[in-house]
Amino acid sequence: MTMLKFYNTLTRKTEEFKPISKDKVTIYTCGPTVYNYVHIGNLRAMLVYDLVIRYLKFKGYKVKWVMNITDVDDKTIRDSQKEGKTLKEFTEFYTKAFLKDLKTLNINIPKIMPKATEEIEGMVELVKKLLEKGIAYRADDGIYFSIKKFKDYGKLANLDIDKLKAGASGRVNAQEYDKENAHDFVLWKFYDSKDGDVFWKTDIGKGRPGWHIECSVMSSKYLGKPFDIHMGGVDLIFPHHTNEIAQSEAAYDKKFCNYWMHNEHLLVNGEKMSKSLGNFYTLRDLLDKGYRAEAIRYELLSTHYRNKMDFREENLKKIPETLQKFYDFLDKLDSVKGKGAPEIKEMIDVALGNFEKAMDNDINISGGLAAIFDFMTKVNKIMNDMSKTDASAVKKLMLKFDSVLGVMEHEKAELDSEIEKMVEEREKARKEKDFEKADNIRDALKEEGIILEDTPKGVRWKKV
Ligand code: AMP
Ligand code: ZN
Repeated sequence: MTMLKFYNTLTRKTEEFKPISKDKVTIYTCGPTVYNYVHIGNLRAMLVYDLVIRYLKFKGYKVKWVMNITDVDDKTIRDSQKEGKTLKEFTEFYTKAFLKDLKTLNINIPKIMPKATEEIEGMVELVKKLLEKGIAYRADDGIYFSIKKFKDYGKLANLDIDKLKAGASGRVNAQEYDKENAHDFVLWKFYDSKDGDVFWKTDIGKGRPGWHIECSVMSSKYLGKPFDIHMGGVDLIFPHHTNEIAQSEAAYDKKFCNYWMHNEHLLVNGEKMSKSLGNFYTLRDLLDKGYRAEAIRYELLSTHYRNKMDFREENLKKIPETLQKFYDFLDKLDSVKGKGAPEIKEMIDVALGNFEKAMDNDINISGGLAAIFDFMTKVNKIMNDMSKTDASAVKKLMLKFDSVLGVMEHEKAELDSEIEKMVEEREKARKEKDFEKADNIRDALKEEGIILEDTPKGVRWKKV
């Protein structure tokens, strides 16, 4: 048995993963800012979260997963005003769209998804605590965190802290800035008429939270201090995650989080896919062009999460062939008629061992996939000898692999629902006495290998 290892941004080492509690993992992932449809770069991050969590479950851990929804910040306020909508109306629309994208890509949805606007009280408490301890201070436009008051500031991003502190006299009010401009950052923004009706009247003043404070508050509230894993894209290492650590550790004198995992970016022609550069695809764009969700999921998953990945649309065309190999393989298993292949047991053990060995090594997905394809090649060679019992053992293993990959069953479920839709449509046509349409649907289904049977309980369909 190999041991599970993750690359930890905090220590810059690949380390053995040791959760705080023996069988349960607590994990926080930074969610989207809901001011637009997310792009597939964002979705790459979500897929990486999903993959890591699925693999932790594969390893037998229970997982408590929290992902926030940023529904108040500079961008959500700006764009809701542009559209003449309330912040709530505006952000709820894009939150729904986001959840739909997750579902389409077969990404598990976290049970705990707090919204920033619903957690203001906790944020105010944290800011108060920082004020009491003399780590935060009031300025004319907001309350700021004084980075020189926190000795470990910048550790995660590997900043030269002494140099930075020597020059640390300024402040930044913007939510995003680069390392060169590291300064005291805003915890609470005092009301500015530009914010319209977006404000909270609180003990620390009328205004709204800075961006970083929400993740400090929500993660600790639901997962405790410290928790096991925090994930996000590499762009969040600085300033977002750096500031999360500063806020939490300075306030509570306790470690905030043990393992920090960051996914690399999805690129377009060598540049980060991003809204501001305008070089992005949404999931909708790709589905409208006829690419399948499974293909998109597989493509985005099959590059190691810490490698940059250039997105090429044409790659999506090749994927279905690969996926088809899975489907054909699973189908073939249903029709084996042999007497039994004793070597199958060892093949299963070896495949499982190889898969786990690769994935344990910081989620080495190429190694994991290679183990699966190698297994399929070997099984294909002895398929004629295999008994039904052998086949069901093989299938069980494939579905175990797929509990991590999430590409084999999804397709089937989707197809089933497409067939059901057609069957219903045919029923409707028959009731309306449009027999030509009903027959056409029957023929179309027949071509797909689906036959319909009229039973006393209604129409049933089966694959032949
Ligand atoms: P945002 O809504 O910008 O806060 O992003 C949500 C998540 O997507 C964060 O974890 C980001 O780091 C991540 N992300 C943003 N752009 C990309 C990209 N091009 N490739 C991979 N992850 C990204
Ligand atoms: Zn965050």
